[in-house]
Amino acid sequence: MSEIETNVPLQTYNTFGIQAKALQLVRIQSAPQLLALLQAIPDKASQASEPKFVLGGGSNLVLTGDVKPLVLKVEIMGKRQVAETAKHFIVEAGAGEPWHDFVAWTLDHNMPGLENLALIPGTVGASPVQNIGAYGVELQDRFDSLDYIDLATGESKTLDAAACQFGYRDSVFKHALRDKALITHVRFALPKVWQREISYADLEKLSKKKNELQPTPSMVFDWVCHIRNAKLPDPKIDGNTGSFFKNPIVTPEQCKDIIGRDPNVAFYKLLDGNFKLAAAWLIDACGWKGRGVGNAGVHPNHALVLINKGRETGVPATGGEVMTLAKAIQTSVYERFGIRLEIEPVVL
Ligand SMILES: Cc1cc2nc3c(=O)[nH]c(=O)nc-3n(C[C@H](O)[C@H](O)[C@H](O)COP(=O)(O)OP(=O)(O)OC[C@H]3O[C@@H](n4cnc5c(N)ncnc54)[C@H](O)[C@@H]3O)c2cc1C
Repeated sequence: MSEIETNVPLQTYNTFGIQAKALQLVRIQSAPQLLALLQAIPDKASQASEPKFVLGGGSNLVLTGDVKPLVLKVEIMGKRQVAETAKHFIVEAGAGEPWHDFVAWTLDHNMPGLENLALIPGTVGASPVQNIGAYGVELQDRFDSLDYIDLATGESKTLDAAACQFGYRDSVFKHALRDKALITHVRFALPKVWQREISYADLEKLSKKKNELQPTPSMVFDWVCHIRNAKLPDPKIDGNTGSFFKNPIVTPEQCKDIIGRDPNVAFYKLLDGNFKLAAAWLIDACGWKGRGVGNAGVHPNHALVLINKGRETGVPATGGEVMTLAKAIQTSVYERFGIRLEIEPVVL
């Protein structure tokens, strides 16, 4: 039987450190427990209409107030190899496993392939939701399949990569299945013949500096951790959600227009002929680094990272301050470059 906790403080359950409460929260430790909980909701109609929010590690979340939907906090654990094919090891992890620990576990078991995604905060279950990516690798490059439970019908379903509709920080879980599915397990296909991916500028630079042109998987893992620790603010010190905006993708014509507005704009060409612009550069060009609204600010060294200035001011930022700041940034980037920045974290 699931215990429903009431008025649960969420400040330590979101990496921005925003103070808010879950009016009702249930910890989900297994798929059968969730199915029993759904069945306990009196009839199918109220089961479908009762709003629910699935919470992982809270590292891609902005809370703008107390959370009224029933919060399902995912704590399903376990990691194991479940199969192998001619080319891949298939490994599975429970949705509540911390992502970084899972990456380290695959390396400890000689199944590399996820090392470029080391140190991304959050849980395994959330990793397909925004198709996490870093240092030249995206989750979809190593994805096999996942299991989820439909929160309206209580049905268990399995999806392959095509059905997940992965895109740049995007998937079906941000659209048709938003707040309708709880992912219980994710499976990954890790290559038996490993190929290093160090073409990303920071990794290439480190490889040359160390004169180590053929690093092992553990070296790549260590390098990624080193670069991330040196570059990104630690949410335990200054609350944040990592990149706050997606890098905008524009057509060649739009890119030409922006270069006309500022020839220094940072961009790179994608395989489909479109261009990806560096959102950090656009925000910095509008003079936002180090500025803020109330207790929410733009990191002084990373224009893409909005931070909770509570450590400095003694008062934690509210979700309202964070969103006011985000909207002000969106407006100034739009006015100067004609580009609409899209917010990456989920706003609740
Ligand atoms: C310092 C820092 C650095 C970061 N760097 C990166 C990076 O390099 N690359 C990157 O892609 N992201 C990055 N992120 C963002 C974040 O870590 C990822 O998006 C992560 O996958 C979120 O996991 P979570 O468990 O914290 O999800 P949460 O924040 O709890 O939830 C995010 C969304 O996923 C949904 N969700 C969570 N679990 C489940 C589940 N089991 N089933 C269904 N839906 C679920 C939630 O409902 C919500 O909509 C960073 C964040 C921080 C704070």
